[in-house]
Amino acid sequence: MKDKIWLSPPHLSGREMSFIEDAIERNWITSIGQNIDEFEYSLAQYMEVDNHVVALNSATSAIHLALVMLGTGSEDEIITSSFSFVASANPIVYCGATPIFIDSEKDTWNMCPVALEEAVKDRISKGKKPKAIIVVHLYGMPAKMDEILKIAEEYDITIIEDAAEALGSSYQGKACGTFGRFGILSFNGNKIITTSGGGALVCHNQEDKDKAVFLSTQARDYAPHYQHSHIGYNYRMSNIVAGIGRGQMEVLNDRIQARRKMHDFYISLFNDIKGINVFSEPTDNYYSNHWLSAIIINPEITGKTREELRMALLEENIESRPLWKPMHLQPVFTDAPYYGTDIAEKMFDNGLCLPSGSNLSDEDRSRIAVVIKKVFHH
Ligand SMILES: *Cc1c(COP(=O)(O)O)cnc(C)c1O
Repeated sequence: MKDKIWLSPPHLSGREMSFIEDAIERNWITSIGQNIDEFEYSLAQYMEVDNHVVALNSATSAIHLALVMLGTGSEDEIITSSFSFVASANPIVYCGATPIFIDSEKDTWNMCPVALEEAVKDRISKGKKPKAIIVVHLYGMPAKMDEILKIAEEYDITIIEDAAEALGSSYQGKACGTFGRFGILSFNGNKIITTSGGGALVCHNQEDKDKAVFLSTQARDYAPHYQHSHIGYNYRMSNIVAGIGRGQMEVLNDRIQARRKMHDFYISLFNDIKGINVFSEPTDNYYSNHWLSAIIINPEITGKTREELRMALLEENIESRPLWKPMHLQPVFTDAPYYGTDIAEKMFDNGLCLPSGSNLSDEDRSRIAVVIKKVFHH
């Protein structure tokens, strides 16, 4: 059996160990220390925001914390994209609130501004203004932020940006994750950089940052004994893990360039195969990190289905994965309101994520090309 080609494997820089060793040597191994400070600082620098980033143990906790900081409770409704990973929606349920799912549009595959406005109006007419909108930048592609921000402003609804997949992406030159009241990043093992597991909450003032640190470290009041007047969480990133993040930040730009090259590779590979749409930026306003390269197959033109391609790749030990199954079609969310048509659903039916790692070799790429050419008779 040939070596497995993974969809999106971790890619270390070799610099991580020195930061970890440093933390161990100084005995700063828990939730305070230089690695955390420096990692947060380098993220803020990278995203061109003030130093108000909070390193956490996952993006899921970051979303939950953002909702908690907005005071989300069981009476509230939170809008989010249906076409996303389940972690965009689960924290809404942790708060006891109701998720409201929105369909995608075809240009960026992200939240459709038309369906969003329809949802906002309809919820308001039913007597409940949504408390927040969680916008996702899928596979690194920025959402239509202009339109979405305009709606949020008009109806005075807070934006949380799930930029878990979009570190390094930007819209009109501004970093994804910096448009909303809060931005969320993920450093899970499959993301563009990793800390093994981890996340961050991007805040825009010291008050929010202090509150996020307080709540993520068990909400201890200022007292010599353990005194608590708030419910807290154990969500802070450890100083060891942040050391991996520091090593990864040194190569973030290289990783983005390598992922974008994978996208270029698929563009040229599918160039003369009709009926395949390679997920690409609709205009120059959008800059995607191309965390995952993805395609949509039109089976009527290609004569092949998504599953036929996926199985052919699997036979050669190459991992690929269907696009996210929309949340409004998930058994766990059958009762949640949904606004839109069947755009996300059709993308799920015909879409496939292809190997996108920043550490794929030329040999890996030719193995992928051979299978794809064989399936589509080229
Ligand atoms: C990966 C991911 C998350 C969750 O990130 P974790 O760090 O694994 O908790 C949330 N939202 C999206 C869109 C993701 O891709």
